[in-house]
Order: sequence, then C-alpha cells, then structure tokens
Amino acid sequence: MFRKILIANRGEIALRVHRAAREMGIKTVAVHSTADAKAKHVLLADEAICIGPPSSTDSYLNIPNIIAAAEIAQADAIHPGYGFLSENARFAEIVEEHRITWIGPSPDHIRTMGDKVEAKRTAGALGLPLVPGSDGAVETVEEARAVAEKFGYPVLVKAAAGGGGRGMKVVENAAMLEGAFRQARAEAKAAFGHDAVYIEKYLKNPRHIEFQVFGDGQGKAIHLGERDCSLQRRHQKVLEEAPSPVLSASERARMGEICARAMADMKYRGAGTIEFLWEDGQFYFIEMNTRLQVEHPVTEMLTGMDLVKEQIRVAAGLGLSRTQEEVQLKGHAIEARINAEDPQTFAPSPGLVTDYHSPGGLGVRVDSALYSGYRVPPTYDSLIAKLIVHADTRDEAIRRMGRALEEMVVQGIRTTIPLHQRLMNEPDILSGDYSIKWLEALLARKS
Ligand code: ADP
Repeated sequence: MFRKILIANRGEIALRVHRAAREMGIKTVAVHSTADAKAKHVLLADEAICIGPPSSTDSYLNIPNIIAAAEIAQADAIHPGYGFLSENARFAEIVEEHRITWIGPSPDHIRTMGDKVEAKRTAGALGLPLVPGSDGAVETVEEARAVAEKFGYPVLVKAAAGGGGRGMKVVENAAMLEGAFRQARAEAKAAFGHDAVYIEKYLKNPRHIEFQVFGDGQGKAIHLGERDCSLQRRHQKVLEEAPSPVLSASERARMGEICARAMADMKYRGAGTIEFLWEDGQFYFIEMNTRLQVEHPVTEMLTGMDLVKEQIRVAAGLGLSRTQEEVQLKGHAIEARINAEDPQTFAPSPGLVTDYHSPGGLGVRVDSALYSGYRVPPTYDSLIAKLIVHADTRDEAIRRMGRALEEMVVQGIRTTIPLHQRLMNEPDILSGDYSIKWLEALLARKS
C-alpha cells in the first residue's frame, strides 16, 4: 500500500480524499495556491506545499509545480479529485513517467472518453444505447443539415471537447441551423481549443440517470447502481438522488449489468460514471466521466462503500473489494449541492464566513471545507458544501433533508440553502415527477 498520497485538488474534495487516506494509515500532502493557505485541507494534511498564485492555471493546473511538489514530498501516488487535472490524460501520463502512481484510469481511457465523439463511438461498440445523431464529427453545414433532417428538429450541436454543461447549442428549426452550427464551432474553438462538433437529437423531456462503475483494470468490473441527476440548472447538477424514482429493480440490474460488462470488456481501471439520458423507458448514452463525481456520496450511502478507498485499493493493485453479488443498495439518499451564490440570481457570493454550523443527527452527512472565519475565495468553483442524507425510504429522506437544511447555518455570505428548502416542499419533487427541464421552468415561473 502507498505510504504517502499527494492530493492535487482543493476544497471539499481534497478533504474527502484526505479522510480516506488517513483512515487507511496513508500520509497526505496538500498542495495549494496562495489563496488557499488557510484552507481546511491544507490545515489537516500531514504536509502542505504552495504551488502558485490564486489563478488555477498557475496553481491547481500547474503540472510542473505539482510534479515538483510530489517529488519533494516523496509522494508515491497522486489523487486528482474531480475537475482541474482529473481528466487530463497528459497529466496522468506525466505522473506515471515520474514513477508516481496515478490514482485513476489509464491515460488512454481518459483520452478516449474525453473526446465525446470518440466516447460515443466506443460506447456504441461496447453495446451501450446511444442518443440518435451524427456518426462522428460533423464538418460542414450541409452535413449538419442532412443529419438534422434525418432525425428531425430540434437537434443539439455539441462540442466534442465540451464539459461542465458548456459548448451546446439547441437548434429548433432549419432556419437556425447554419448560424448555430458556425457559432458552436467558434465557441468550441475559443473555449476548448478544438472546433470539432457533433449533432444529437434533442430529447424533449428526459431524465439524467448515470451509473457508477468500478473496474480493476484486469477485466473485472462491477456497477454500484444509478444516480438520478435530473435537477439541473444550465446543464449543471443541483441535487442528486438514488435510487432514481423511475427505475425498477429489474431495469437497474439490466442496465447496470450492461455498463459493468462494457467496463470489463475495455479493462477499465478505477471509478467511472456512465451518463445517460432516459426518456419513456429508454436509455441513451451521452458521455462517460473517468473520475470520481461530485455526487459520489449518494452511492456511498446506499452501498456502505468508501469510493475513495476503493480507488486507492485499485490503484495499489489490490483489486475490487466486492463482487457484484456483494454490492447491496439500501434505502434512499439525496445530495444537495450548496453554493456560495445568491439563491435567486445565482450571482457568486464569496467572502468571509462569519458563522458556520453544520447539521447532524442520524443519516446526515456534510462534505465541506467550511469553518467559521474562513474566507471563500472568489477565484474558484462556488460549491462550498454537499449535504447528504440517507434514510430507509424516499419520503423519509426528503423530510430528513428538509430538517437538516433548517439546521444548517452559513453566515456572512449568501448560499443556495433557501433554494434547496423550497425544492423539498415542491409537489413534483415529492412525487419524483421531474425531468432535466423542470428546475429551470420553476425558476422562470417563480423568480
Ligand atoms: P457536459 O460534459 O458538458 O456535462 P453532457 O453531454 O454530459 O455535457 O450533457 C450535460 C447535460 O446537457 C445533460 O445532463 C442534459 O441535461 C443536457 N443534454 C445533453 N445532451 C442532450 C440531448 N441530446 N438532449 C437533451 N438534453 C441534453
């Protein structure tokens, strides 16, 4: 097993990785920007090394500085968390070239799944059902028109290199096509450095349902059930739950097995998430994330497994801790993403946290790097806490979430706690009747 792990991330996920390592008797090295000198992951880690100024490009994305830190601290493995360098195949390669263990999938798999056109081709070849659309990248307006006419409007033009809900354009009709196509390419080029785009049928009212998978890299793979992440704003997840209110046990088992078999076939290593849209009982693959997800605690609550420990085990060559038969999904879990944002306008609200109190009690978990007196920097993602609840039934989990939100105090900055409180009282949420369009419609109606 590893002696020391460098955590190439910040915030709640850096703390999350630290906690798992600590319980396994592994020392941790925090790296941080000058803006994060007093961050909780820095204060708790065994060692901390400053890797640059506040801007992410100069610190958390600064590969030479991170590698230098790993060498100085003599870390034998690097955990990338999510975001930042977690899906950077080149970084994974560089880590391995320095004889440091990369806690993640093989660089080849990261590269394949990071290009969405390649990912769809691979997923199709592995037998996963796809969203109808272009066969690979679309180069010309004429080609785009032919694809759109074949599948019917509306269609979605997506950037092959897209991510985080960016790089997508909905095209309602033929008249809009040319402009949207050209704009999508220009935006993709500017944001991701690649102008490759592809086209998908735009599903009208789907749900977002994703499967958590784990592979040992040797041809064994399991699935840990699904998460329903349909509550979204601007294609970004706001609240996640498992199990999905719309899946039966047999549909879960069938789709989970298809995903696990696909991962076994490709000899996938470590944690992954296969994302689907789901409409009228059909699954449509959209992408695969080759890393730990923000919403992984939902799955941990259901399975009782520690997914970060599992990642570390697999990276150390110890294989998976459980067989498929040993994975049991119990009860219901919900995660609310709490952001330092105005709950109405969603404008960022960084600043000094003058008072902080986290909720507690049975079945309540808080993954957060906040403390009273901490200053939320304006430089990074606005996620400041994940509130996760677990209960025997969905109704009980919703009530527990409502109760926990009521107990939670974050003063000095604005947060999205009031939004989540409102959600826990909405009839459609209580009945589980919502799609990826639902939250934006609610916000448009009531704000
Ligand atoms: P990203 O990598 O940017 O997160 P995804 O392909 O995972 O992009 O899509 C993000 C979200 O965009 C989905 O959860 C869904 O809300 C919406 N979306 C993506 N593809 C489609 C589609 N074909 N039809 C309707 N909505 C879509």
